[in-house]
Amino acid sequence: MARVVVVGAGLGGLAAAARLAAGGHAVTVLEQAERVGGKLGWFARDGHAFDTGPSLVTLPQVYRDLFAATGGPLEDAVDLARLDPAVAYRFADGTRLTVPGTAAAIPPALDAALGAGAGASWTALLDRAAAMWRISEEPFLRRPLQGAATLARLARSPGDVATIAPWQTLRGLGGQVLDDPRLRMLLDRYATYSGSDPRRAPAVLATVPYVEQTFGSWYVRGGLHRLGLAVARRAVERGAVIRTGCRVRRVLVEAGRAAGVQLADGERVPADVVVSAVDAAALYADLLPGERRTAGTRRDLARATQSLSGVVLLLALRGRTPGLAHHTVLFPEDYDAEFDAVFGTGPFRDRPRPVPDPTVYVSAPDDPALRPDDDSESWFVLVNAPRHDPRRGIDWDAPGLADRYADLVLDVLARRGLDVRDRIRWRVVRTPADLARDTSSVGGAIYGTSSNGTRAAFLRPANASPVPDLFLVGGSSHPGGGLPLVALSAQIVAGLVGPA
Ligand SMILES: Cc1cc2nc3c(=O)[nH]c(=O)nc-3n(C[C@H](O)[C@H](O)[C@H](O)COP(=O)(O)OP(=O)(O)OC[C@H]3O[C@@H](n4cnc5c(N)ncnc54)[C@H](O)[C@@H]3O)c2cc1C
Repeated sequence: MARVVVVGAGLGGLAAAARLAAGGHAVTVLEQAERVGGKLGWFARDGHAFDTGPSLVTLPQVYRDLFAATGGPLEDAVDLARLDPAVAYRFADGTRLTVPGTAAAIPPALDAALGAGAGASWTALLDRAAAMWRISEEPFLRRPLQGAATLARLARSPGDVATIAPWQTLRGLGGQVLDDPRLRMLLDRYATYSGSDPRRAPAVLATVPYVEQTFGSWYVRGGLHRLGLAVARRAVERGAVIRTGCRVRRVLVEAGRAAGVQLADGERVPADVVVSAVDAAALYADLLPGERRTAGTRRDLARATQSLSGVVLLLALRGRTPGLAHHTVLFPEDYDAEFDAVFGTGPFRDRPRPVPDPTVYVSAPDDPALRPDDDSESWFVLVNAPRHDPRRGIDWDAPGLADRYADLVLDVLARRGLDVRDRIRWRVVRTPADLARDTSSVGGAIYGTSSNGTRAAFLRPANASPVPDLFLVGGSSHPGGGLPLVALSAQIVAGLVGPA
């Protein structure tokens, strides 16, 4: 039995803690915030309640595996609901497309909304994505990152390489397979699920819509934050100790190995194994001594583009919106202008800025647990945004910026047919700077490093660090961000540490 310290109680840290505790280790989780969940945040006031982070659960099998491996079914721990319809899209030309929640119903819905042939063309894309998924799921997503060995596992035959097409971007794949510009826009959006730009992210991200549409879009009744609470409960049931309000200042390295951590108040917590579940960039920059053996990882982190961040509006609304789907996406006319603004490319070269005409995502669960009465709604509104970077980019703490930008987003919503300005009881605006403060993710990056660039997946920090007995879990390490991948990283780390 090893003494394991897990730093950070986001889903990654909690899932690792549950698995390691179930494996017989003595696990202590140290979380700087007063509550667990990390980006799986929650805000409640006056009967209105909101998830402040994730609003969509995909690939539920990953959580089923986690719960089954740690002592009981997922369905006993949270109330999962499959969404149907999955999402409603509105395009700038006025087209409306409601995507059903079951895969078989999607092609006819695409034909009806976009014209005959749209369904077949999307099916061709998903067939290719299914083949990509079969090639990459086990050897890449479920295994540690091991450089050349990982590449060899992925490239077992020339046919596999041609299917994955590592030289092709997601935008390139869309242009090749999809005739309709609206379908191409829809595909582009999936790059943002890993905080990336479709013009630079690899084609293999087509697996994201494949997974979403094949295995479903899911909601946790009562709010997604309950998933984090349930995993925390499971970890504690298996014997883990969770301490909140404990900021880790550094990872202790003794005789060349990780030997525990030191807290901000000076307390030392010795351990045989340290699992870092904090932003990998923060770990390597702030919590570890700058040794030569970690220089390569630090260099890779510096080479990678950080993921985009987001501005969130929590809207406590009077009244109900007829026909509103659980998730709605309102596209702009010029999607490229959005990525240029967020990543500081094109006309915004090296000058990222808040997107003037952003895609707006609205999540409005029809869930009595989230509203004071049946004549109210609680909307989570998210737009992509550049990271908080006062020195070289945007200072989201600049006086008035957050409120001005929230007003702009409400105006965009109104122009695109969802005018709620006179229904607002109150609103809370959360910027990338707030996310950075609350979770210590560098600049409020939602997904660690982005998938921009053919090598991005290989620049992401590995789960086994160069320091023996120090492991990385969570969205900024392999295999990447988003709840399912974070849970997979926990599975990989539990495998690397091994049973007691
Ligand atoms: C607005 C938003 C929307 C999103 N939407 C979705 C979605 O719909 N679907 C989806 O799958 N994913 C979504 N995500 C991404 C998802 O939330 C993350 O990938 C995932 O929650 C990351 O989990 P994590 O454990 O890696 O990191 P985190 O949740 O960031 O956890 C890290 C934890 O470490 C703690 N910590 C940091 N530094 C220290 C320290 N020095 N000492 C102690 N503790 C420390 C932090 O306080 C935090 O609790 C979204 C994220 C955001 C912000």
